[in-house]
Amino acid sequence: MSNVQERAATGHEFLERSLEEVDGQIAGAIRLETERQNTTLELIASENHVSRAVLTAMGSVFTNKYAEGYPGKRYYGGCGPTDIVETIAIERAMKLFGAEHANVQPHSGSQANMAVYFSVLKPGDTIMGMDLAHGGHLTHGHPLSYSGRDFKVVAYHVRKNDETIDYDEMEQLALEHKPRLIICGASAYSRVIDFKRIRDIADRAGSLMMADIAHIAGLVVTGNHPSPVPYADFVTTTTHKTLRGPRAGLVLCKAQYAKDLDRALFPGIQGGPLVHIIAAKAVAFQEAATPEFREYQGQVVRNARALAAAMGEAGFRIISGGTDNHLFMADVFVKGTTGKDAQNFLEAANITVNKNTIPFDTQKPMVASGIRIGTPAVTTRGLREPEMKSIAQFIARVLDSKGDGSVIAAVRKEVMALCARFPIYE
Ligand SMILES: *Cc1c(COP(=O)(O)O)cnc(C)c1O
Repeated sequence: MSNVQERAATGHEFLERSLEEVDGQIAGAIRLETERQNTTLELIASENHVSRAVLTAMGSVFTNKYAEGYPGKRYYGGCGPTDIVETIAIERAMKLFGAEHANVQPHSGSQANMAVYFSVLKPGDTIMGMDLAHGGHLTHGHPLSYSGRDFKVVAYHVRKNDETIDYDEMEQLALEHKPRLIICGASAYSRVIDFKRIRDIADRAGSLMMADIAHIAGLVVTGNHPSPVPYADFVTTTTHKTLRGPRAGLVLCKAQYAKDLDRALFPGIQGGPLVHIIAAKAVAFQEAATPEFREYQGQVVRNARALAAAMGEAGFRIISGGTDNHLFMADVFVKGTTGKDAQNFLEAANITVNKNTIPFDTQKPMVASGIRIGTPAVTTRGLREPEMKSIAQFIARVLDSKGDGSVIAAVRKEVMALCARFPIYE
């Protein structure tokens, strides 16, 4: 009897079967998604296309490993290779961002933020964050999020006239409410954030400062946006947006908070770390430290500027008049379309965006007057300024036609031709 037969029905027979063999439905869906990404212009600002190296690390045998604790201090045996991975990830994160301490275990950006709150806040404390409707994030104190449940929340806004952060209001609110923590960073804000000014405000109000750079982390590590690391007590980020790593989170902090933060993350809010994902984070940090990645991020910003300018020329109103980073919001209501319809019309033409409220929006959040557009993913596949002009034309044709079927079909064909010139995941 062969070894394989002897070991049948022990569970072993599953080990080497291909996904195709085991589960045709999921294998089919993965093929569909690969095809969708290959034939779609991905303009969702929080998305990107990761490298094969990152995918390989994510799909590795480290998914089998339990490793509660931290390198050298684990609750489980067999953590030798795991400690190598996590130690490398921590060292690379600290070096990449110039930070005094890094925790690479958060499963997501939301978990990263929760770890910070659990390490320095008590229920009933006051926190201050940017209003979600003005570009902030759910986890910055929105009532539907954990962050809005146990804390008193004060929100700051953008100014009506130029749609940029109202630092004067932030200062006034901080001095009035003395929040324990001031949160800055955004999901839908296209201008440079003045971290030094926010540090000054936090100092005057006796507050701690957290910068959530989930969106702009890739820009920060390549010098395309000022870094909050010298100023903020805590810096949180996702690793899957401009940073182009696996879907996960990261917290950086000053050395004095390291112990409390690590304890708040584990055992405070998470169990075993996702070692395969931490391995992929390490790979992404390695890629992010290269000159090529610096060049990539520069192109992301130049593409965003070019696309915003071309959409402005096509008659859309660009929120705050333009962009300094990888994204911008376009008011589509000026052309008589809601954000919701715009998203659907564009999706039918193989252009993916998300509807987004604009500051002082008159529409409900699920309808919205705007769309958010970002260039990280299309830049990864190799597109530059000339293609940005074409994309602006595609978007304008679809939305000006109010979703006319023949216009969508014509644009879709051109989008697919463009995508075919810049293939991914062949
Ligand atoms: C995306 C984002 C997050 C949350 O990240 P998840 O991984 O989806 O939990 C947190 N903060 C900001 C500012 C974000 O843009």
